[in-house]
Amino acid sequence: MSDILIRRALIADGTGTPPFEGDILVEGAIIRQIGKLDTAGAKKIIDARGLVVAPGFIDMHCHADFSLPVLPTADSLVHQGITTAVIGQCGLSPAPLPDQKRDEVIAGLSGILSELEAEIPWHEWSSFGEYLSFLTRLGISINVVSLVGQGTIRASVMGFKAGRSTPEQMALMQREAIKALKEGAFGLSTGLIYPPGSYASTDELIELTRVVAREGGLYFSHIRGESETLLDAVAEAIQIGRETKAPVQVSHFKAAGRENWSKSKEALGLIERACDEGVDIATDMYPYTAGSTMLVAVLPEWAQEGGKEVILGRLSDPSACLKMTQDMREMGFARSVEWDRVLITGSPRHTEYRGRYVSELAYEAGQTAQEWVFAALLETELQIHMAIFAMSEDNRRQEVKHPVMTFCTDGMGFSAKGKSDRTLTHPRSYGAFPRILSHYVREERLLSLEEAVHKMTGMAAKRLGLKDRGLIKPGLAADLVIFDPERVKDKASYENPHQYAEGILEVIVNGKSVVHDGTHTGSRSGIVLSRT
Ligand SMILES: [Zn+2]
Repeated sequence: MSDILIRRALIADGTGTPPFEGDILVEGAIIRQIGKLDTAGAKKIIDARGLVVAPGFIDMHCHADFSLPVLPTADSLVHQGITTAVIGQCGLSPAPLPDQKRDEVIAGLSGILSELEAEIPWHEWSSFGEYLSFLTRLGISINVVSLVGQGTIRASVMGFKAGRSTPEQMALMQREAIKALKEGAFGLSTGLIYPPGSYASTDELIELTRVVAREGGLYFSHIRGESETLLDAVAEAIQIGRETKAPVQVSHFKAAGRENWSKSKEALGLIERACDEGVDIATDMYPYTAGSTMLVAVLPEWAQEGGKEVILGRLSDPSACLKMTQDMREMGFARSVEWDRVLITGSPRHTEYRGRYVSELAYEAGQTAQEWVFAALLETELQIHMAIFAMSEDNRRQEVKHPVMTFCTDGMGFSAKGKSDRTLTHPRSYGAFPRILSHYVREERLLSLEEAVHKMTGMAAKRLGLKDRGLIKPGLAADLVIFDPERVKDKASYENPHQYAEGILEVIVNGKSVVHDGTHTGSRSGIVLSRT
């Protein structure tokens, strides 16, 4: 007898064609049959009248590689209908950790992970393959597609120092990248605002990406600039794609800062033109107007160099603070920052900052915004997270429907049950995919349900080269989500992010129910996907 029969669903099959009514039969981990299956039976029958069944959503940019080891059930992600996440992003993967620089790399990565509420079991792995085996042993509720981080590789070969790589160092980095690909990575990621990955020149990136492309790997990039220098940064990503032939994904697309809003259209235009010229390039986004990162990212680029101790030294040196203040007014990311749009979302040592804007906190302290930022970073040893409202909703409306656009959370898996004073994480970790369906599809009608589902599934799977997922078709993996198109809605807000989305009723991962009747079943039927 078959395992699951979904009856009378409205099937949005991931191809982008209009939904049709039908039944779906699942056997083991596979979709067996689709159609009018009146005589079929199964151990479990789901009456899906009035509901939409889609392939499980694919999160094109996710940092769950750090949350899965401590929360393998990935609750906030599965409650969005996500069944596969692309991890190892922004140049920051948890492996490889070769012996010679192991502690240094872990310390560097840990700085960005203060949102997590449990210790990462670093001792479980060294190589990339060992990390993936650890996930398999642990059991996880979603599938993962993994990337190896160029920042992690560079740190493991060269430490966190700036400067060019020598030919020997390049050879070592290439060897690490190829090794990770052979052990399961789908490609390389870069995070070109985060040291030490950001120290790599375009030429260095091309040299490294070339060997990745030769192995059939992808290139995902948090590009070098998302505000003033957005167009140059997109051009760099295109150049890397053109010269290496790697498929390129520009991650979490945005034009940040009011004065850069007009660049969104131009940047997407550059990507379109590159596609026309034969470069394999696309992009993804999360559907919010605020970004989220560590507060330290507002410092001038030079002031973020050298690692934590060096940065703290600068923050306690008045002349360095003066220079930072000047540079923040004149250049880089900080120039376009509006301090009344920078929300502190958490700091383990100063929970009273949580939920307040930098402009208010500075005013109360009788300081300028820059003075407050320097003092707060110093006092907390850089452990402050922010949400920064820097994007235009008008741009978001155009971006969601753009033909090169797929979707992501740029988040991690969290559980809504947790300490009340914890970090107000960005709502995208709970609401990104439901928000597309409720806000942009149902309310604003900017794209049809089938288009949105196609971007979340079939189109994303194709980008990743996943031949066995992303569509509802006999023989493909049974990753399915059943939702109520009238009720689906994100509930997470900036002030109260730890809330699951509504209307996502059933989530099936490799034929097993991970969400049933809107509740996580505890099933850990996700797998580490490999390139086919
Ligand atoms: Zn990023």
